[in-house]
Parts: sequence; structure tokens; C-alpha cells
Amino acid sequence: MRDDTLAGHRFHPSILREYDIRGIVGETLGEADARAIGRSFASVLKEAGGKTIAVGRDGRLSSPAIEAALVEGLAQSGINVVRVGLGPTPMLYFAVHTLGVDAGIMVTGSHNPPDHNGFKLMLGKKPFFAADIQRLGKIAASGDFPRGAGRVSERTVLEAYVARIRHDFDGARPLAVAWDAGSGAAGEAMKLLTSGLPGRHVLLNEVIDGRFPAHHPDPTEPKNLLQLQEAVRREACDFGVAFDGDADRIGIVDGRGRILWGDQFMVLLARDVLRNAPGSTIIADVKASQVLFDEVARMGGKPLMWRTGHSLIKSKMAETGAPLAGEMSGHIFFADRYYGYDDALYAGVRILGILARGTESLAQFRDSLPAVVNTPELRFPCSEQRKFAVIDEVRARLERAGANVSAIDGVRVKTGSGWWLLRASNTQEVLVARAEARDEAGLETLKGLLAEQLRASGVTPPQF
Ligand SMILES: [Zn+2]
Repeated sequence: MRDDTLAGHRFHPSILREYDIRGIVGETLGEADARAIGRSFASVLKEAGGKTIAVGRDGRLSSPAIEAALVEGLAQSGINVVRVGLGPTPMLYFAVHTLGVDAGIMVTGSHNPPDHNGFKLMLGKKPFFAADIQRLGKIAASGDFPRGAGRVSERTVLEAYVARIRHDFDGARPLAVAWDAGSGAAGEAMKLLTSGLPGRHVLLNEVIDGRFPAHHPDPTEPKNLLQLQEAVRREACDFGVAFDGDADRIGIVDGRGRILWGDQFMVLLARDVLRNAPGSTIIADVKASQVLFDEVARMGGKPLMWRTGHSLIKSKMAETGAPLAGEMSGHIFFADRYYGYDDALYAGVRILGILARGTESLAQFRDSLPAVVNTPELRFPCSEQRKFAVIDEVRARLERAGANVSAIDGVRVKTGSGWWLLRASNTQEVLVARAEARDEAGLETLKGLLAEQLRASGVTPPQF
């Protein structure tokens, strides 16, 4: 049945993205869009035989109004809505897994600037992404929404969520930990969680504030970890944990204040998981260090390299039955004793448990890893029209030359010196590169090979 109040809603073309819906509030994303997303998603949910959804929101200033409009849209299309309120994205995932609902939508701008906002969606217990998200645009444009009067209720899950995470803490000796919520949506959950854990806990930016006054809540940027590094040193902590704006990504620093990237602390997590589940598959994305894949194999696990993107990794994990997966970006997924979604609070507690059970410090663990030199993730502009074509050209040239190329996501090339990666971002007009070698001379060789391929396709190589 056609609804005249919302006939033919058109979204700004930039907001329906690969893994989520995201825009700039008041510019590309507003309450009318949120209502239309509710009505379009209701159509998909009804078609799948569902009738109830959980909705959560982060701590951004725009989130209450956007959440209200989304809930209104869902209810107007006959969907029953359970509002779980303010909290991290994994709390919404937890609600979907435990409340007997058919879907979930989180209103969040994740780690993006304060004036951004968006939506992460689940249908059943699976991520809803790629072509499914594009389909919402078509449904909205048609204005062909179901009508009804859904019930709206409120349900607090924060205590149950935190209790579930704390349940899996298995440490013995008390440690000192600094935690930085970055004023993001993890704040309340982090306070409640640490108040029930043994040891000494130093909390930073635990008050949720959508303006992010202390620093931006994105632990992949070293400058956003400065405050945590300083607190770890000042308070003589064993290690430090940081969350992104909606706590589906984690950042880690050791007791000496050094950053451990996702592919480094994943070795620690994999070791623990493989002890309980020997021989199991451990997934990491194509940006991850060769050290992680080699260590997983050495410990008797099956390393699986997969495409970058939290929705893609989650789907691959479900398909392979892998108990653990992780991305360089800090999305860590535990199906071992947990639900298989990316939850940074949960990952933090598992790291704490491992360190508090053993005698090795995180700094000692870091120093025990095989020494390699690598670049960070290098991102540089390339037009939407060219970015995938460049990858195809590079792959074709390398294959003709007989190079050792993995084409899972872009090209990852193995040479005698190490490996280099070039891939096209699914979400931005950029190419992403990374290289890793055993020594500086090897790294220079790899950078040269990468630059040569970029120039051959008319792209200016990044400064490295
Ligand atoms: Zn996030």
C-alpha cells in the first residue's frame, strides 16, 4: 500500500555505503532520512517474516532525534520496536542475540566527526550490508512502504550486557589498567564493567559527550592514543585500552606506553583461543602482518586471510566456524565463548584475562614477536572511476610477470623481501597500501616495487 506522507523519499547519494549508512547531519542526513530508513527496513523485515526490532543509539548530540525518527518510521510500518537506549554498538548486537527480536539497528556515527551520524543494521543475527543497503534506497524511492501501528517499548540491557562480558573474565592476579572511552558510547558500560573487575582501573573520558572534548574517539590514529599512553606511564599501569566512538573497535598500549596494532595483539588472542580449540581457523584481513598468519600456523591453527570490512569478516566467520577473527583497524570478533560480533569491551576483558592468568607482561609479549619493519596503512586519493581499474591493471601486470599474488582483496604480493598490498577502499575514493619486510633495506625495495606499479597506472605514489 502506498503511503502519501512519504511518497518517493530520496537519500543523498553518498549515504548508502558498503557496510553502513552514514552522513553529515543537516547536510546529507536528517530526520526525514531516518524515518524513511525505518519504513524501508520495515518492508525488508516483514518480507523476511520478522516483526520485532531492537534499536540503540550512541552519545552523539544528534542521536536522540535521529533515533526517534527511525523508531517512528519502523512503528508506522507495523514493526514492534524495543528501544535499548544509549550504549555501545556491541550492546545493540547483544540485545539482538538475547531479546528474541528479529533485527537490530544502531544509530551511530562510530569514530567519525561529531556532526556525522549513521546506522549499522542487522537482519536476524547477520550483518545487513552491500546490495541490501542499496535496496533500501530503491524501496524508499518507490514510497511503497507497509503500514501499521507497531508497539514501542523500552528495555534496559546495559547491566545484562556488562554482566555477560564480566562472566568471561578468567584472570587470577590483579593488574592495573587504564581505559579510555574517548567520551564515546562505551563510557557507562566501561564504568560498570571495571567496577566489578579485580585490580586497579584508571578511567579516562568516561563521561559520554558527543562533542568529544578530549580527543577524537578513533584509536587507529596514534594522536588519539597520546592521553592513554601518558596515563599508562603516569599511573604505572600494566597496559591500556581505548575504544572508538561506539566501542566496536579497540586500541591497545603496553605497560611502556607503546601501541600494539590489531595484528599484533591478535597473536596473543589467537594463542589463547587455539589452546582451547586446537587446529581451528583464525581469520585476519589482508592488511595484517605476515607475522600473525605465520604465528597462527606455527601454533597449529589454520590462518585465513580475508577481505577488509567488518561485515565481510563477520560473514566469513559464520561461514567457516572460526572462533576468532580480527582486523588491523581494531574490530575483534570472538565466537569462542561469545557471539561472534565485534565487541571492544569484550576483547579488552579477554586480553586482561590472558595477562592476569599468566606471568608475561604485554610489553614482554610484544618484544617476543618476530621483528619486522612495516609501514602503517597508507591511504592516498584515487577517483571512484579509477580505483578498481588501477587494481585490475596492477594485478594483470604482476600476473604476466609471474609474481606471487593473492587477489582476495586488491593485490597482496609476496617477494623475497616480504610483502606489499594495494587495495581500493570500498567506502572512500582512496587506494590503501601497506608493506612489510624483515629489515629496512627490504622495506625500501618493496616500496619501490609498489611505487613502480602505481606510476605505471598513472597514480602518484604516496609519501613513504
Ligand atoms: Zn565503531
